[in-house]
Amino acid sequence: MYDIAIIGSGPGGLSAAIYAARARLSTLVITGDEFGGQIASTHEVENYPGFDDGIMGPDLTLKMRAQAERFGAEVVTDFITDIDVDGPPFTLTGRLGTYEARSVVVATGASPRKLDVPGEAELIGRGVSYCATCDGAFFPDVPVAVVGGGDSALQEGLFLNRFASKITVIHRRDELRAGAYLQQRSFNEPKFEFLWDSVVTEVVGEQGVQRLGVKNLKTGEESTLAVEGVFIFVGHEPNTEIFAGKLDSDERGYILADAHMRTSVPGIFVAGEAQDSHFRQAITTAGDGAKAAMEAIEYVERLGEVAPAVSETTSV
Ligand code: NAP
Repeated sequence: MYDIAIIGSGPGGLSAAIYAARARLSTLVITGDEFGGQIASTHEVENYPGFDDGIMGPDLTLKMRAQAERFGAEVVTDFITDIDVDGPPFTLTGRLGTYEARSVVVATGASPRKLDVPGEAELIGRGVSYCATCDGAFFPDVPVAVVGGGDSALQEGLFLNRFASKITVIHRRDELRAGAYLQQRSFNEPKFEFLWDSVVTEVVGEQGVQRLGVKNLKTGEESTLAVEGVFIFVGHEPNTEIFAGKLDSDERGYILADAHMRTSVPGIFVAGEAQDSHFRQAITTAGDGAKAAMEAIEYVERLGEVAPAVSETTSV
């Protein structure tokens, strides 16, 4: 039995763990399939306070983990598939184990949205990617496409600039959503080209991506674009399926929370992108995690049965 179980190991979950463990509550972080969340697949983080020269995404999450473990948080690698919200205690069922806790912080984050066009699913890992930082190096001196017009599309496209021979940004409107700084940098890069008012209709290839079907939404004209990689950045969807019908959420699946990160179930709190489709920053998510943990600490203390403080650092 833990005082606080935290589902998710991105900046929200790990910040919650630092606060909970430092308050000497027994604290468990359940990582999900991949440790660190989305920021762990971000090449360079330039806007997290305290790192004036920037920091690599994986390094930032490892530092957060080390900080949480220093105060006694346990970290287990498991993926939660079910939760019994009829508590406390709350029971979390994972693929590898079952966990009980007096309080829960949901920090499950969000995952990249798919285009849902023919060929996309079949060619994931063979030219279709949702992470330039992870896969960009596999595309040296070949043309690639980036889909989307937001900050992610341009930031990841700029990362691809060091490998690919040409980067075609395919955007469904004629105006980018991304911030002015990233726009300016992209417009100045000679390898960048922009296909405006256009969407991808199919991804074509046998062993790997060979070309994309592209449609101009204004003219209706259809064309093909020869590329060996397509990097898709068209937003995100919250990882909240297991809470459906258990925690109140909006129509897109984002968990509803008040300003104190409280969900509709007392004792269960939420942090980061599982409840936020707007800010989506490591720093805002980390702040949410701290708030959720502070509320969870108060909740557990009110229950009046705080478990003995953990004294050793354990990890898996
Ligand atoms: P986003 O801002 O929601 O942008 C998604 C982009 O995909 C938009 O341009 C959207 O087009 C397009 N899109 C959505 N669905 C589509 C579809 N079905 N087909 C084609 N295009 C589609 O997502 P994001 O870029 O991942 O950014 C999310 C948040 O993280 C933002 O708040 C952003 O500021 C932040 N972020 C910040 C940084 C940074 O500070 N450096 C880096 C990455 C992300 P429309 O424009 O027409 O809607």
